[in-house]
Amino acid sequence: MNLILFGPPGAGKGTQGDNLSKDYNLIKISTGDLLRNEIKKKNKLGIEIKAIIDKGKFVSDELINFLIEENLKNKDYLNKLIFDGYPRNLNQAKKFDLLLKKYNQKISCVISLNIEKNIIIKRVTGRQICSECGLIFNKYYNEATPSNHKCNPNFLVTRPDDNINTIESRHDTYIKETHPIKKHYINQNLLHEVDGSKKIDQIYEEIRSIIDSLETWLWLIYLYK
Ligand code: AMP
Repeated sequence: MNLILFGPPGAGKGTQGDNLSKDYNLIKISTGDLLRNEIKKKNKLGIEIKAIIDKGKFVSDELINFLIEENLKNKDYLNKLIFDGYPRNLNQAKKFDLLLKKYNQKISCVISLNIEKNIIIKRVTGRQICSECGLIFNKYYNEATPSNHKCNPNFLVTRPDDNINTIESRHDTYIKETHPIKKHYINQNLLHEVDGSKKIDQIYEEIRSIIDSLETWLWLIYLYK
């Protein structure tokens, strides 16, 4: 089963993707994380990527499609992927269809997390990530405490692109470039809408019930083939 988590920056795709990857034994591919890993290398490419991300703009489709293809061709990941942050424009969505065909893979469903801009701003500006264990918290909605986070609180950091100016720009880019992809997946009968403004656990339950009912269908199709 391959899934796409779709929605504006700050909708909670990363958090829900982490939960899903644990419970369903899937691998989360976050293009944002892949790019931040390149930035950490502090080479020429990393410096160029950082300048683009800090402005809230998109990195080139060629680079992103290349990173995605590297994961799609990995046989250990076959039909086990959650895509977070990809595709992000119609060009990427069309290229993705071709890549999936090339590697004989399919998307089982696209979960769209729907949420308003004012809630996103609070979520993004409050987001804290543990640089040690990678868990994501929020100082307004889901504070790190000794019971949910075992590392030293000094490891909690804010991503440089999680500031008010960048989020405004990222949201505008989402509306212009990414939101139109929804139609692409509605036409493929893959889109499932979820209210992303609810509590993390409630959203997760909704996503789980969508996936579980999908799995039941897949089993029935398999049995009666
Ligand atoms: P994210 O962590 O998904 O919010 O991504 C952080 C930043 O990485 C975005 O604001 C973009 O600048 C860049 N980025 C992530 N995914 C993509 C993509 N699929 N296409 C282009 N740029 C991307």
